[in-house]
Amino acid sequence: MGEIDTSHGSIGRIGSSGLARPRHGEDTALAILRSTFGYEAFRPHQAEIVDAALAGRDVLAVMPTSAGKSICYQVPALALGGLALVVSPLISLMSDQVTALRQAGVAAACLNSALGAEERREVLSQASRGELTLLYVAPERLDDPAFLDMASGHGVALLAIDEAHCISQWGNDFRPSYQRIRSFIDALPTRPPVMALTATATQQVREDIEASLALRNPLRVVASFDRPNLSFSVERPSSRADKNAALLEFARTREDRSGIVYCMSRRAVEEVCDSLCEAGLAATRYHAGLSPEERERNQEDFLFDRKTVMVATNAFGMGIDKSNVSYVVHYNLPLSLENYYQEAGRAGRDGTRAECLLLYSPGDVHTAEFLLSRTQRDDLTPEQLQTMHEADEARLRQMVFYATTTDCLRSFILRYFGEEAPAYCGNCGNCLADFEEVDERTNALKILSCVARVRQHAIAANSPATSVGAGSLVDILRGSRAAKVLERGWDSLSTYGIMSEVPVPRIRAIIDELVFREYLTRSSGDFPTIELAGRGVVFMKGNKPFIMRIAKGKPRAPKRDERRTRKARNAGEEAPDLTPEQAELFERLRELRLSIAREQQVPPYLIFNNATLEDMCRKRPISAEDLLEVSGVGEKKAERYGQAFLDAIAQEA
Ligand code: ADP
Ligand code: ZN
Repeated sequence: MGEIDTSHGSIGRIGSSGLARPRHGEDTALAILRSTFGYEAFRPHQAEIVDAALAGRDVLAVMPTSAGKSICYQVPALALGGLALVVSPLISLMSDQVTALRQAGVAAACLNSALGAEERREVLSQASRGELTLLYVAPERLDDPAFLDMASGHGVALLAIDEAHCISQWGNDFRPSYQRIRSFIDALPTRPPVMALTATATQQVREDIEASLALRNPLRVVASFDRPNLSFSVERPSSRADKNAALLEFARTREDRSGIVYCMSRRAVEEVCDSLCEAGLAATRYHAGLSPEERERNQEDFLFDRKTVMVATNAFGMGIDKSNVSYVVHYNLPLSLENYYQEAGRAGRDGTRAECLLLYSPGDVHTAEFLLSRTQRDDLTPEQLQTMHEADEARLRQMVFYATTTDCLRSFILRYFGEEAPAYCGNCGNCLADFEEVDERTNALKILSCVARVRQHAIAANSPATSVGAGSLVDILRGSRAAKVLERGWDSLSTYGIMSEVPVPRIRAIIDELVFREYLTRSSGDFPTIELAGRGVVFMKGNKPFIMRIAKGKPRAPKRDERRTRKARNAGEEAPDLTPEQAELFERLRELRLSIAREQQVPPYLIFNNATLEDMCRKRPISAEDLLEVSGVGEKKAERYGQAFLDAIAQEA
């Protein structure tokens, strides 16, 4: 979707004046949630946050992607009347929100660098005339004198800061422009309640947000990061070819469902997209190297369900609230669990079952380190840069641990975000895999002593190369004749070739485990090398076993004859709780939604999302009144689209 057309005649006129101006308070908030957004009840934490904002209190809300942060400031904005400002970092994020709000009949607009001067003036004058309820602004706009004039003249009822972690240099997306928000608040004649919202925040970042915005005794809410409808898994293909095959198999068996494949580089995006297309899948691509026109076209193809798979770099997705993405595959290792969880979290936003798969190969670590070391930030001081690099490295290490652990993946993620979690979720690749426990003490000892021998050998030869890369270490242990091995004289070591009968992936897995348990350390930098750590030395001297969980095989995949027909599978898997009749209806409604969406040129999920269609199939409303009982149907949408859907349901009966 492109920029919002602010000259769109309707926005001024649906102004907040068109809505009954309600009394403040809880009942009002619930009434707005029901009438405007069509939701029956607040989700966990939403009511508490809304109440605080309505009572004039600051808020710091940490909630995972899809928990429903927007409602937390949109409902108070409507309840308070007046003008609510929302600071948001990305243009695509703003346009999406504004389009969705207008669909629900809310007077919303945005101000950012993508607008022309004329459009900007028009938005500002609408705001001064009191015709806007929600105005989204880019942080860079905050020092614009015309904007400050409007804000101080007209008054600001509420200030919400979305993606608030951008303010912290410890965060994973530091934007110095966010630090202007504080002086903007100070410049306002009357200080509004300030709400900071984010999906990623460690304790340090939380404290930083509070301090940088000078929040006053805020209500602090940290929601659970668990997304029960997502199932996580990691596969560790041993070669590039295996990785491609794994991806193809995965995408093919989910052919008519919508999915995203994230890759680390533009080149990988191109190659993966080509191979999916060659295999007959409807794939498209997105990365910063494409022309803006092509990016926009491809994004729309995906949003409108004309293409089912989006292959993209991390440039894609911020602000893409496509609710029916049913899987996210990472073809390469993300740089941090924050990134991973945010990207993977784009699956299953409507609450239906969805899958998140990471395809991990150890070579990715090297590429990731290279990418991190290359980050240029002219806007940071050398000290800030140093801090950022250290934080980056620590985050990448955790990401590798996630990729190599055999413990419950969900619990790994939740614990990373500071939450208590049971050790078994029963719904991730590791919980479902068939593992056997094996004592790898002998192999672990061979690896550790090989690392020690390399060091002794280098010292004896007066060479500075006292440590060894993981690739060379495997070569030595397997007795390879690789040039580097021979050049360094590693073929004379007593550990040369002592693991020649052990497969490479197994040796790699044991090395990863040794690093994970801190028996070995892996240095950072362009050429990471491995060294013996104190714990490793202790282990070598002792007689403890080294128990590892080794996968016996892949978790059982459904057999061919268990797969249903294309149509039934399609409807059934996106809506797992529907009866066959309901699933038929779901298909009809989905087609209807698609034709309305094409006509109106908005993405289908902005008409009604899948969860709403499912609820419609279950409740089978026959009157306009029934229709309002369906989750996600507000008054405005019922008015706009209700009849068409009621007709389709009546036809089916
Ligand atoms: P976040 O900003 O936390 O990632 P969103 O605000 O985009 O999440 O909300 C995610 C989805 O949940 C949206 O489709 C939204 O409309 C829906 N949603 C939010 N609150 C509720 C609620 N109380 N009941 C039902 N659906 C909700
Ligand atoms: Zn699990």
